[in-house]
Amino acid sequence: MTADIQGAKAALAHLDIDENAATVRQKSRDFFWYSPVLKDRLDGVSADFVVTPQSEAEVIEVMRVAHAHRVPVTVRGSGTGNYGQAMPIAGGIVLHMKAMNEIREIAPGRVIAGPGTILADLDRRTRAESGQELRIHPSTHNTASLGGFIGGGSTGVGAIRWGGLRATGNILRLRLVTCEAEPRVVDLTGEHIQKANHAYGVNGVITEIEMPLAPAYDWVDLLVGFDDFMEASSYAYALAHEDAILLKQLATVAAPVPHDYFLRHKKFLRPEHSVAVVMVAPHAVEALLTFTERWKTAEIAYRSDRDGRDGLPPAFELCWNHTTLRALRVDPSITYLQVQYGAEDPLASLAKMTELFGDEVPGHTEFTRFDGTVAIGGLPLVRYTTEARLDEINRLHEAHGCATFNPHRYTLEEGGMKRSDPVQLAFKRECDPAGLMNPGKMIAWDDPDWDFSDERFYIFPSLAS
Ligand code: FAD
Repeated sequence: MTADIQGAKAALAHLDIDENAATVRQKSRDFFWYSPVLKDRLDGVSADFVVTPQSEAEVIEVMRVAHAHRVPVTVRGSGTGNYGQAMPIAGGIVLHMKAMNEIREIAPGRVIAGPGTILADLDRRTRAESGQELRIHPSTHNTASLGGFIGGGSTGVGAIRWGGLRATGNILRLRLVTCEAEPRVVDLTGEHIQKANHAYGVNGVITEIEMPLAPAYDWVDLLVGFDDFMEASSYAYALAHEDAILLKQLATVAAPVPHDYFLRHKKFLRPEHSVAVVMVAPHAVEALLTFTERWKTAEIAYRSDRDGRDGLPPAFELCWNHTTLRALRVDPSITYLQVQYGAEDPLASLAKMTELFGDEVPGHTEFTRFDGTVAIGGLPLVRYTTEARLDEINRLHEAHGCATFNPHRYTLEEGGMKRSDPVQLAFKRECDPAGLMNPGKMIAWDDPDWDFSDERFYIFPSLAS
């Protein structure tokens, strides 16, 4: 059965619908253009129309109509996903969740909110009413939605203390509407949460989320400068192992990136500065300074409690994918990779990659907790020349024992573990039997025999021309 777009539109005409071609195209785009590879492939993508549900009851109605008319549905939070997660590559409906932004309950250690809630708004409310904040948020705190963080994100600011969203306990409960003739509302707890966590909305629409909270602090931002990137990273690795210095964020960025691309912090930096970007609790600043004094080559280039914050972005907006964004704004040819440095000796693995690529791949690490230990992940920049060289750089990382998560692919598998996730696939069969939710994002659904070992780029049929 082919998609009956007009029939679906007529059946949903009483809801908040946008069918203006220009604004529909706008709401069909995310940050896919971050990648020169995805920019080429996805630029022409657009939905047929956008529906903005006001309630779970309206989501259920959209799912029922979409199923009856076999119309694809791609859920959208704020559209900040940078792998094309929210791009409706099969057309159909974009389901814009922005109106479902109610904060329903704030309690000790937890909050219940709608998926459209902007993360910064959520933190403002929980701070004001309870002195608490989200444990982890992406660096897109000011724009991203809670549902989009869970549907399309993975980790971020706070990971040095709390790990990523996949760590058991970092999401408490999800409520999901399925896409069936009679849509169901499912509460996911315990192991079941992973069925919809980082699933790009391929198996349903998250309509309510319960998240854990941590005590809120007026985090102090520091840039600690070194004349050598590996020295900065050794400092950060040692700092990450300090048991009693409470951090919210820890990253390192290689020279000349901070001086050349962190334009508003430039006045604090020398071109030779590789920096550790640190967010520390106010009561832990003195301990951090004591620790830093042991590093004879360390310079405190910037401290928000000394130098102020006037006109400066928060330190976390120098980290995660914001590092790439700042570089891209100055030099549009820059792109990036996503790497997990060798688990046995991540510093040695980072040193090897730094030596191998030099300034072609300026270093950017993110220090996180992972399975109980400190891990070094990275979003190193790449001075892009060709797609073939980008693939080669990715492959060379793998060859040297670094796991890579390719940010230049739009499917769950290619951007993740390069294999299908049987739990998410089985759940999709249950919840989206007609395969209407965000088509093209799960290879295991489209092509169960796909061979991940040969590293071919999966192209969804509608993108093939
Ligand atoms: P969208 O982009 O709108 O959606 C993301 C995915 O989730 C899509 O597949 C969408 O279909 C699905 N989805 C959205 N809402 C729902 C729902 N209610 N139910 C089911 N599925 C849903 N990511 C990180 O993890 N950490 C970072 O630190 C980080 N930093 C970033 C910095 C920059 C500058 C940029 C551009 C991106 C960054 N990202 C990061 C990626 C992205 O911002 C995050 O994933 C963000 O949380 C996405 O939220 P969003 O509301 O924009 O989601």
